[in-house]
Amino acid sequence: MRIGTKVIRAGLSPTTQGEPFLASVTFAGPYHTAGDPSTSPYTYGRYHNPTWTQFEQALTELEGGTAISFASGMAAVAAVFGTTLQAGDILVMPSDSYYGARLLVEELCQKMGVQVRKTPTAGNGQLQHLDGAKLLWLETPSNPGLDVCDIALLADAAHEKGVLVAVDNTTPTVLGQNPLALGADFSVASDTKALTGHSDLILGHVAVRDPTWADKIRSWRTQMGAVPGPMEVWLAHRSLGTLEIRLERQCRNALIISEYLATCPDVRGLRYPGLKSDPAHKIAAQQMQFYGPVISFVLASRDHAEQFLSACNLVIEATSFGGIRTTAERRARWGGDTVPEGFIRFSVGCEDSDDLVSDIKQAMNQVRQAG
Ligand SMILES: *Cc1c(COP(=O)(O)O)cnc(C)c1O
Repeated sequence: MRIGTKVIRAGLSPTTQGEPFLASVTFAGPYHTAGDPSTSPYTYGRYHNPTWTQFEQALTELEGGTAISFASGMAAVAAVFGTTLQAGDILVMPSDSYYGARLLVEELCQKMGVQVRKTPTAGNGQLQHLDGAKLLWLETPSNPGLDVCDIALLADAAHEKGVLVAVDNTTPTVLGQNPLALGADFSVASDTKALTGHSDLILGHVAVRDPTWADKIRSWRTQMGAVPGPMEVWLAHRSLGTLEIRLERQCRNALIISEYLATCPDVRGLRYPGLKSDPAHKIAAQQMQFYGPVISFVLASRDHAEQFLSACNLVIEATSFGGIRTTAERRARWGGDTVPEGFIRFSVGCEDSDDLVSDIKQAMNQVRQAG
């Protein structure tokens, strides 16, 4: 079965006369459990939930390894760090990876005695730092810089040295790029972003090939209580059905917009892995099925970037990315990322591309006139 069919059918309940296609959401703390608890499929809401079970089944089919749902992307990231690393271990990670992941490493892992080696994503810099490491953490394309590394190459090199490999796959989603198929041990994502795509929930997941790691990750979730709400999970499953349709539209729009931006004299540092002229395109084309909804570029100054964002009528100013509505933000307003003041992270939605391009065009003209 092709992925476009799989994603629409994944995790549906067996057909039952008079029942919905996707079983309705189950809200429960404790479940009726008399006597020996091992005779009951569900006992307590922090351990398991039927709505999780069906969504995790869907993700498992798409990832090609057991998927475990978490309350947020950060809860999923923390589960991988928490189960793989202990005092004295070495973690190799990109210096340009998601700010929240770097912060967690600094504030928690390093304080607990984990050593960290950081190098940029571009140029597969991690290859040089694998000796003696426990975990190689990758994020490709990186957020927000959109650099790309070669997952299969790095995973092979890491495994030769006995190093575990995790990929933060948030930006492309599992349909855009499949880390487990490329050799990673852990595929991690924030499902807050493109996977669910409606900007209405916070969620994450981890997928693994090895059942022992699946058990460890699941136990971590139970012990830390990093459990997703059943309503969020049900909404996520509902949204998953349109993932391929959304990505097709978003990525087509993103290419059209980045091709337009490439012609703008005021735009510098344009990055979109789908652009043939992008430095990341060659590796991206090897390992990605969709290049994702995110573009980045730089305007001359903070003022120019702020003017541009407020001059856009169709582009909602907001953080996060991957939703069906086009959003953008001046990334430096948060601190934490080494990006220029005029750096814009632009998340392309599903609107009509002609409308988006003419809106961006009129906003660029306003900025130019203001000087
Ligand atoms: C947003 C994001 C996260 C964190 O996800 P939350 O759902 O906000 O907790 C992790 N990694 C990347 C690359 C992200 O963009």
